[in-house]
Formats: sequence, structure tokens, C-alpha cells
Amino acid sequence: MNWNELALDGVKIHPHARLSDYTTLRLGGICPCLLDCGNAKSLLETVRQLAHRKMDFILIGGGSNLLVADAGLEQVVVRYYNETPAIRREGNLVEVEGATLLDELAKYTVEQGLEGLVYGSGIPGTAAGAVAGNAGAFGRQIGDRVESVLLADRKGVTRWEKASLLDFGYRKSRLQTSDEILVSVRLQLEEGDRKSLTTERGEVIALRRSKHPDWHTTPTAGSFFKNIEPTSSAERRQAAGWFLEKAGAKEMHVGGARLFEKHANIIVTEGHCRAADVWALSQKMAEAVKVKFGLNLEPEVRKLGKFNP
Ligand SMILES: Cc1cc2nc3c(=O)[nH]c(=O)nc-3n(C[C@H](O)[C@H](O)[C@H](O)COP(=O)(O)OP(=O)(O)OC[C@H]3O[C@@H](n4cnc5c(N)ncnc54)[C@H](O)[C@@H]3O)c2cc1C
Repeated sequence: MNWNELALDGVKIHPHARLSDYTTLRLGGICPCLLDCGNAKSLLETVRQLAHRKMDFILIGGGSNLLVADAGLEQVVVRYYNETPAIRREGNLVEVEGATLLDELAKYTVEQGLEGLVYGSGIPGTAAGAVAGNAGAFGRQIGDRVESVLLADRKGVTRWEKASLLDFGYRKSRLQTSDEILVSVRLQLEEGDRKSLTTERGEVIALRRSKHPDWHTTPTAGSFFKNIEPTSSAERRQAAGWFLEKAGAKEMHVGGARLFEKHANIIVTEGHCRAADVWALSQKMAEAVKVKFGLNLEPEVRKLGKFNP
């Protein structure tokens, strides 16, 4: 395949790209080619070109919720990511391209004095990745603010769809299983006070810094498992980290994978670490919680490629 045929405007082509360069865990082998699309137009044109050639692909954003296999991927990877935000505002409705970073979006809304997304400050990844996984913090999640989304199918055919059709739940949406591509999202926000939002953003970022590893320097994908869903409406969701800590997970390690000292649900890596180490450690953690509490933990981090069962 001559990858240069896919050299469209706004697309960077990386043949034999190493996925470890595109994930915050800094793990993952090679894919045949990574097509880096920085805006909606280049994304859609790339998807159409791949469909025309009947080529399957895997879609990623910031790679902050992914564990990619050491053996890499057989498919082409399309990355929809841009550090320069593409956002516009109409009243209290904000439309953002999915490639924009969630933190840039949160910053923009604060600067505009718009309430409703400040908790997203400091969460890595793109707006599209956040909507796909219904990212959130402090009991709030992005799906609560989504008004509609511009989706594309795998042929690059687009349509706007209402948020109510996306089946948002705790860290989940229809997009995780539907193969659809989120191109843009419209969020319904509220008038807020710019000064207090700015203070709140500073506090959120400071709190995150005190509790989470800095993914720029410490490879991690954040919380590995989802919190435990309540079994009745009277209960609150319970932190997976609490169960993991009680089950002794903080002391566990496999190869170069271990737990972050401040949080038993956050895997970090050091030295030479393989994706297989992270996967094996996560299985050990889940097994310990199963044995001690009889609970099945569900991974929040998404696996790509082949791993031992
Ligand atoms: C240090 C750290 C802290 C974190 N803290 C939080 C937190 O507080 N709350 C939280 O919710 N998460 C947190 N995360 C996890 C992660 O940041 C979020 O899940 C984030 O929203 C993932 O976005 P991404 O762009 O990196 O997606 P990726 O990891 O690239 O992809 C994740 C999934 O989204 C899909 N996807 C990506 N783009 C699209 C698209 N355009 N259309 C359809 N599907 C798409 C992918 O196919 C994949 O299945 C944290 C991660 C780290 C490393």
C-alpha cells in the first residue's frame, strides 16, 4: 500500500507508527500506519478514502484510556486529535470538534463564563474520547451536558443526533460498541460567574495534581477499573480503589507495572514495562477483589490488540 495516496490536507501519515508514542501508558507495538487527522474535514475525507479501499481502521483520540498490545495492531489507526481548539459559541450552546482536548474545552468555557464543564479541567484526552466514554469527575459527567452530536458511519456519511439516543451511563455510551465516529459535539451550558469558575478550575487542577500521577512524566491511563455500581437506588457508587486497597492491591506489581502509591486503582509503569505486565497486574487486582469481596471489577481502560486471556 502506498500510504502517500492518503496524504490529504490536514492529515499526517506515520507508516509503522509505534502506538507507545500515542498512548499515555507509553505502551503498545506497531500498526501498519497511523493517520493523524487534526480536523473534522480531514477526518471525514480519510474515513471515506479508507472505505473506498475497503480498509478497516481503529479510531483513537488522546490515547489516555487505552492499553495497546505489545504485538501492536493489524489495522490502520486513525487518530482524531488537535492541541489547537476548534470551538464556537452560540448563546449558551457550545459546538466543539471532537479532536479538541477536553481540558482546552473546559478552559474555554471558564473564560467564556459558562458553567457546566469546569470539572473536566485536567482530564486528559479529546472531547470525542470524553463523550465516547462519558468521562467525568466529582459525580458529574460530560453526557449530562451533551445536546447533540455529529456522527459519521464507517463510510464517512454524517448525521446530527440527539444526546438522548446515545445511551449515556456511568463511563459508557452507545459509541463504545457502535463503530460510529464522533465528529463534533454540541453542549448545553449555563451562564456562570467567570471569576468563581476560574477559581474553581484552579482548585480542580490542584486537587487532581495532589491525587493523580502526572501522565506527562509517569506513564498511566488513570483509573484502571470502573467504580462499583450500586445494587439498589438507595446506595451510592463505591470506589473501586477502596476495595482494591483493602484487597492488598497497592503492594502488587508485575514486571514494570505497579500501583500508584496514592491510589490502588491507578496503574503506573516504570523501567522496562510491557503491556502484558499491565494486563497481568490488572487481572491480579481483579482476582484479589473477587476473592475478598465477591465483586467483579469492570475495566474502564480499553484494551486494543491481542492479550492472553
Ligand atoms: C492521569 C489520568 C487521569 C484521568 N482522569 C480521568 C477522570 O477523572 N475521569 C475520566 O472519566 N477519565 C479519566 N481518565 C481517562 C481518560 O482521560 C478519559 O477516558 C478520556 O476521556 C479518554 O479520551 P481519549 O481522547 O484519550 O480517548 P482514547 O483513549 O484515545 O480512546 C478511548 C475510547 O474512545 C473512543 N474514541 C476516541 N475518539 C473517538 C471518536 N472520535 N469517536 C468515537 N469514539 C472515539 C476510542 O475508540 C476508544 O474506544 C484519566 C486518564 C489519565 C491518564
